[in-house]
Formats: sequence, C-alpha cells, structure tokens
Amino acid sequence: MNVYDSDRMADVLAPIGYVATDGPDDADMVIINTCHIREKAAEKLFSELGRLRNIKEHRLEHGKATVIAVAGCVAQAEGAEIIKRAPYVDIVLGPQTYHRLPEMVARVSRAGKGRQKNKGILDIEFPDEPKFDHLPEVTAKGFSAFLSVQEGCDKFCTFCVVPYTRGAEFSRPFEDVIAEARAVAAGGVKEITLLGQNVNAYHGETVKGETGSEAGLGRLIRQLAEIDGIQRLRYTTSHPADMTEDLITAHGDVAELMPFLHLPIQSGSDRILSRMNRHHRIDDYRRVVDKLLMARPDLKLSSDFIVGFPGESDKDFEATMDLAREFQFIQAYSFKYSPRPGTPGALMQDQIPEALQSERLAALQALLEQNQITFNQQCVDSVVPVLFDRHGRKDGQLVGRTPYMQPVHVQAPPNLFGQIAAAKLTAAHANSLGGELAGSVNHPMPTSEIERVSA
Ligand code: SAH
Ligand code: SF4
Repeated sequence: MNVYDSDRMADVLAPIGYVATDGPDDADMVIINTCHIREKAAEKLFSELGRLRNIKEHRLEHGKATVIAVAGCVAQAEGAEIIKRAPYVDIVLGPQTYHRLPEMVARVSRAGKGRQKNKGILDIEFPDEPKFDHLPEVTAKGFSAFLSVQEGCDKFCTFCVVPYTRGAEFSRPFEDVIAEARAVAAGGVKEITLLGQNVNAYHGETVKGETGSEAGLGRLIRQLAEIDGIQRLRYTTSHPADMTEDLITAHGDVAELMPFLHLPIQSGSDRILSRMNRHHRIDDYRRVVDKLLMARPDLKLSSDFIVGFPGESDKDFEATMDLAREFQFIQAYSFKYSPRPGTPGALMQDQIPEALQSERLAALQALLEQNQITFNQQCVDSVVPVLFDRHGRKDGQLVGRTPYMQPVHVQAPPNLFGQIAAAKLTAAHANSLGGELAGSVNHPMPTSEIERVSA
C-alpha cells in the first residue's frame, strides 16, 4: 500500500511542478513514506533522516532549499515527536492527509528561511472526507497496477498497530474503484492488485452515497473482470475470517482472478491465535482453504507468520511448524514478534527472549523456503501464461510473472513486453524460474490452469 500511496503523492504533486528525481541530491523535496508495522521499519526512519539532514545542509551551501517531509504510519504514530527529534523536518503527514500536500508545500515555501526550527507542519488528522475524493485521476504506469479499495482495520489483533495508524475500516464506493480501474486499463494495465489492510472486509457502496447499497469484494471482482484489457486480478491482504461464500465462489467463476491467494495465518496454535485476538481457529482456516480448493483446485497459498508472540511455548511453535508442513505454502513472510507501543501484546507478561525468537524464526524459514523451492521444482516442464513486465539483465531477455507470481526469465522478442504469452518452464531456482517461449502467443491466454506438456 505504501507503493500505491507514494505514487499517489507523486500524482498530487505533479500539477505544481514536481517530477521524480534519481536521488535525494538533486531533489527540491524528499518525502520518506514510512511503515510502522514492526520496530525495524520505524527505526530506519531516523537513520535515513540523518543522511537527509547532511544533504539539506550541503544543498543550502549552494543556495538550494530542500523540503523534507515524513509521511505514512510512523508519521501518524509519532507525530510531533519527529519534529522534536529532527527539527529540520518541514512536514509530517499521515496516510489520510497526503491529498493536502500542495497546500503544505506552499506553506513551507511561504515561511521560507524565516521558518523557526521545530515549527514544521504537522497534519495527522483523520479527515471526515476521505482523501480519495480529492486525489487527481490515476495515470497508468507499466502493465501491473495497485489499486487501494479498502483502508484501516477494525479487527484489533493484539500485536498490530494498523487500527491505530490507518484508522477505522473504510471502503471506497464501487464506482470510484471501477473508474480508477478503467483509467489504468485504458493506459495499458493488464493486471490489477486490489489493496487493503483487510481487503476482504471490503463493503463498498454500489450506489455512491446510498447507505445500505454496500456489497463485498466478490461482487467487485466480478465487475472489474468485465473491464476491457484487464486480464489478471489479485487482492491482498485478506483475513481468514472474512472469506465470504461469494468471494470463495468468485475464485471458481472468474478466470481473471489469479489462483494465488495471500491468506495470513500467523500461528499454528489455537491458544496463540486466541491471545492474538485473530477471530479464527486453525480449523476455521482449514475449512476456508478446503472450500477455496473446491472452487479452484489449482489455487495455491502464501501466508504470514509471527514467531515468539508472548506466551508461545515450544509446543505452540511445533504446531506452527506442523501447519507450515500441512498447507505447503508456496511463499511466505515470517517475522519475529515486535512489541508495538500502545498495542495489548506489548503489555503481555510472558515476552519471549530474542535469542529464542531468532532460533524459531530460522527453523520456520528453512521449512518455508523448502516448500517454495519444492513448488518451483514441480513447475518445471509446465507451460504457463507469463505477463512480461520487465527487461532482464541479459540481452533479449524479458522477465515476467506466472499466475503464482513467480518471476520467469525468458529470451523473447521485444514486442512481447507488456504482453501475456505462454512459456515453458525449464529451470527452478529458489526465488525465480527460467523458461522459453512456447506455442501460440495469442491471448487472452488460458490463465486457469498450468497445462502439463505432453511428452
Ligand atoms: N491484515 C493482515 C496483515 C497486515 S500486517 C492480516 O490480518 O493478516 C502484515 C503482517 O505483518 C502481518 O500479517 C504480520 O505477520 C506482520 N506483523 C504485524 N504486526 C507485527 C508485529 N507487531 N510483530 C511482527 N510481525 C507483525
Ligand atoms: Fe492488523 Fe490485519 Fe489484525 Fe487488522 S486484521 S489488526 S491489519 S493483523
């Protein structure tokens, strides 16, 4: 979502003359868009700010001003503290107020050199009117686009800062989402990933402004699939407790919906899931996955794990290892529990020592990585549709993604850039695959199944 937000900040600033530079040295303004989900992400901010301070001073010696802004969830959480600790910061803004950036920039430049230290602009409000109503039309960049449909979260998992930094759950109306999807499709985008902190809690108004007209993500996906040019749809991140029947059915009905779903589980122990306030047990997760596989037998899963949550015993951790073996996730993110200020988890008594967290994380990651490699190896000899959206390092090489998001390197003519074409997978590595063009490159390609190549 931060990638989407950063792009939108660029869109907001374009009309007042800002364009992207290659680096901070020749930038009149630098915005750091931050993440607060784990401590490590937040810590990076202050070391990065120190570096920018030097650049700002150096540029000033040459008569050039530099506006420094801190955006995103660290800004939301720390607010004025940032200006106190780094008085050379000009603007601190939260994730819900970046549509006001031009106004803030104007205020900074009006104050000019007269601005007192520690008097940076702070705007971390949660405005009544959503920012989306004030943002300019999105312009397509590349062939694959993110589209925010939902923000915030009402679930309050005990480890998580999202409900505090992104605010309450909010869904954009259907017509706004569809208009944005049409605009990017007209600009050449073929693949859209719908975004939300809890995206499958989406319940947008089907008639804008009409309370009671809300419908869920399944219906939205069906409508988006009708848009000319859209060949692939994905959504992230979803919560197991919000996988509705309609959404599960959409996985069977909508060919454009890719057979790859990120469905975070966090832990394999019901006891820990309950302490995490996850609103689901392992058996609920199992049931959801069974239904998804009934609807779409070639569906594969990725997941998120937290190890070393307060109170996690060896037995709880073993349950997580068992779960990773059972579900054979083809990709996964795993983290050591990081206590976040203001969340209930941070106040729990039985915190797990860092050394034990590291040990458990290493064991889990070795297993998850092995699952990923095994899947990549199983894919060798299959013919899959690949969306080529990058140039490779080697001459004449294009890089694309399979329906399962695996990067594939293929020797291919330049006219396939931005196209979906069939590739036979020939080599498996830990994080990518090698392939060669296969058969017809007509499309729309069948994206429903990996076709085994007959001998
Ligand atoms: N809404 C999604 C997750 C959003 S946060 C869900 O409900 O699953 C993305 C991931 O960061 C989480 O899935 C979790 O694995 C991880 N995460 C969040 N807070 C964390 C914390 N305090 N410590 C470690 N990992 C955390
Ligand atoms: Fe955080 Fe996801 Fe839980 Fe919401 S559902 S509180 S975003 S982990």
